[in-house]
Amino acid sequence: MDTPHAGSNLTGLRDHNTALVLSLLRAAPQGSSRVELAAGTGLTPQAIGKIVARLLAAALVEEDGRGASTGGKPRTLLRLRPAAGFAVGVELDRHRTTVLLVDLCGGIRHRATAPTGLADAPPRQTVELIAALVREVAATAPAGADLLGVGVGCRGPLDHAHGVLHRPAGLASWDRFPLREALAEQLAPWPVRLDKDTNTAALACAGPGHTAYLHFGDGLGAALLLNGALHRGARTNAGEFGHQVVQLDGPPCSCGSRGCLEALCLAAVATGDHRAAARLLAVGAANLVQLLDVDRVLLGGPVVFAHPELYPAEIADGLAARLPDREWQQVPVSLTPAGPAAVALGAAELALGPLFGRRD
Ligand SMILES: [Zn+2]
Repeated sequence: MDTPHAGSNLTGLRDHNTALVLSLLRAAPQGSSRVELAAGTGLTPQAIGKIVARLLAAALVEEDGRGASTGGKPRTLLRLRPAAGFAVGVELDRHRTTVLLVDLCGGIRHRATAPTGLADAPPRQTVELIAALVREVAATAPAGADLLGVGVGCRGPLDHAHGVLHRPAGLASWDRFPLREALAEQLAPWPVRLDKDTNTAALACAGPGHTAYLHFGDGLGAALLLNGALHRGARTNAGEFGHQVVQLDGPPCSCGSRGCLEALCLAAVATGDHRAAARLLAVGAANLVQLLDVDRVLLGGPVVFAHPELYPAEIADGLAARLPDREWQQVPVSLTPAGPAAVALGAAELALGPLFGRRD
């Protein structure tokens, strides 16, 4: 099978205006006319004409059908070609690795999983396993397709800028491990990016406004999309939501502290009491909403998706009860629309995003 190219056809199409046009086309799967693109970007019809000609020549978009006539001649609709490029998204969990081939429109084209994760093998061995899965999945892309890169969502704490893990709880062998560099060596020439699993999951549901994404699996974390952009903080480690202390002298937590929200939620889940876990999560969500005044709270992670009705309902109730003016402070709580694959899907977005002007 042919190995996909490393984004070679697409690298010439990364100027700001082209990214703007591509992002509008991505957001309009039903198609968009040149007139609509000019209105949406503020560019002149001539500029749009030139950009579209280049995108057609690169087979990144196609002319597809005709829109409704507005009295004059019918408008030709342009659509992004999903199969014009791909990225690979990886979710690296404690005991599982999931690898997806994702097309330009965020569609999942192929999936591979292994019952091995961070806690099951030494770092070098795990890196080789991930690289083998990535190659296997990349090889399912159509012959000659562009592969824009590989994104990895991994539990934190980690340094996104340098691609290094920092003291992940219970995973001593991974402390200071340069995961991004180790994977990039294996997967050259494909670029590799690494981020916290919470952040990649949030990227999979990025939209306008302020969003808090809460992720509950074998740990508890959050990601913050402020004004639609990921907020990473000074060391790129923002969002350690699970380690807010909510019970002084409470039970010990994997982080070394006591009474963390994560420790209390995991203890509730261990006894099978998901309602209690959800009520605790609502306390944390209320703290976050009071601090940041977000528009919405999205939920994800394996524990939440195993109880997809209980968690949103309990957290919405608990949150509303803790906000001083619930008429005014209406903050909807729902499952992430990206679904259970959000971490790996959003990891692919780390590689796809720049083509559409995202700089997360
Ligand atoms: Zn803790």
